[in-house]
Amino acid sequence: MHKKIFQSSFLTVFLVLIATIALIMGILFHFFEVQIQTELENEAGYLSQAIEKEGIRFFDGFKKQTNRVTLIDADGKVLFDSDAEAEKLDNHADREEINEALKNGTGKSIRYSQTLTEKTVNYAVKLSNNSILRISTTQYTVITVLLGMLQPILIVLVVALILTLVLSLKVSKAIIEPINQLDLESPENNVAYEELTPLLRKLAEQNQTIKEQLEDAYKKQVEFNLITGNMSEGFLLIDKDASILTYNSAALELFGITPPVNGNVLAICRAKDFRDTISNALAGAKAENIIMREECCYNMIANPVFEKKEVIGAVIIILDITEREKRETLRREFTANVSHELKTPLTSISGFAELMKEGDVSEDMVVDFSASIYEEAQRLITLVTDIIKISELDGKSIPFQSETIDLYELSEEIINRLKGQAEKRNITLNLIGDKTQIIGVRKILDEMFYNLLDNAIKYNKENGTVDFIINKAENDVTVWVRDTGIGIPIFHQSRVFERFYRVDKSHSKQIGGTGLGLAIVKHGAIYHHAETRLESVEGKGTTVTIRFGRESFVGDE
Ligand code: ADP
Repeated sequence: MHKKIFQSSFLTVFLVLIATIALIMGILFHFFEVQIQTELENEAGYLSQAIEKEGIRFFDGFKKQTNRVTLIDADGKVLFDSDAEAEKLDNHADREEINEALKNGTGKSIRYSQTLTEKTVNYAVKLSNNSILRISTTQYTVITVLLGMLQPILIVLVVALILTLVLSLKVSKAIIEPINQLDLESPENNVAYEELTPLLRKLAEQNQTIKEQLEDAYKKQVEFNLITGNMSEGFLLIDKDASILTYNSAALELFGITPPVNGNVLAICRAKDFRDTISNALAGAKAENIIMREECCYNMIANPVFEKKEVIGAVIIILDITEREKRETLRREFTANVSHELKTPLTSISGFAELMKEGDVSEDMVVDFSASIYEEAQRLITLVTDIIKISELDGKSIPFQSETIDLYELSEEIINRLKGQAEKRNITLNLIGDKTQIIGVRKILDEMFYNLLDNAIKYNKENGTVDFIINKAENDVTVWVRDTGIGIPIFHQSRVFERFYRVDKSHSKQIGGTGLGLAIVKHGAIYHHAETRLESVEGKGTTVTIRFGRESFVGDE
């Protein structure tokens, strides 16, 4: 800026200077030309009067003053010339000023020398005898004068330029320095020359507007980040070329990518359904798809964004529906399993009843059939009871009442209930531990321990042992149900807690199992925030561990 102001002021002054010199020279030249012209005319005037009076004799003893005087007859022949011998001069009939004077009475002409350094100004007057009197004078041309004056002109120019240089520097400094020292953050507090006041006012206004707009944009950004940042759904905004404009942290997590994320959205997922959804949205249609990625399942919704009926991008929402899908699969499997489990005893009952209805069954058979029907009905009741239990735990629809329960007393009571069953196979039941209180739901804990002890007896060997061990530690209470039974093969160990999962289906059915016992244990433990662990060695026995943590813990009184 400083340089620019300096350059332009310097250039302006320099040009003005040159123009002034040129103008002055021009005016002076014009003035002198007029002067010469008048002088020639005056001289021609009084000389012509004298010649009119005295004729050619006037030139006898004529003394030239400043200008050259020539007398030419009407045919162009030179009769007299003050600077040369008339006889030696050419015929002047072709001279411009002579012709003009012959025609109009007076004539003028200017002729330049070959070097253009001089010019001759001629003025001719026609006399009464048609001869022509011509007065001529020689003058330097502008170029000659200029060249002659070059030195003083250059001196003037150099002095003027130095002055201009100094002044321009001073002026530009005087203009720029206050501008450079301006505090643009608070323009109105500046003390500068008056011409800057409108600019400063405008700057202050603009600062205010920018500040407001920035605050507004910042607020919107914060709002947007808060909304999208707290969304569990992945959010992506893309432009019409599928380049990512913005995204939230959930989107990064869902696709397992790390910021900064830019470039084409198609680079973050290669799945065909993903690409199809994006291209449909960018074609202007709302698109939705289920996308499988690694072990996960996503619901992807892409909506086009329009501006003046043109698609300018798309908003993409991605929901992780892996859990939902898993639950849905489990529900479907459960329903199918329940139907299947119910159908088998019902078919048996219906078959026996049908035979008895026909009437061609002996009395002994009727007793056997009735026993079978009773057995199947009992199975059904057990199954339905277990289904109800697991549904209660699953849906948490029924509010359970928590209370302080003595685990030792509760297990003692359960063992008593199962004593008969154990005795039939000569299995010893041991309760090891002390009175230990926890906070829990009696009904659920009863079902959990009953199922564990029931399994430990059912899947035990003749003369086997079942230990029910209770241990209270500083922060937790652990229960172990340990048997010396058939054990569970490693392959099945991780699945026995699934609903209706049985290692040996026919054996389980035969001994009255429903396949829901351990599922009830697992859900009961989850309800009490307890940990469940199963350790088993095939042919040697199984130990199920339930560890109740802080939530159920009752400290020592
Ligand atoms: P079930 O009603 O068939 O006993 P559970 O859910 O209680 O159903 O158990 C699932 C399966 O796990 C059983 O069918 C059985 O094969 C196996 N199982 C459970 N407990 C034991 C155990 N203590 N010893 C050996 N196998 C067991």
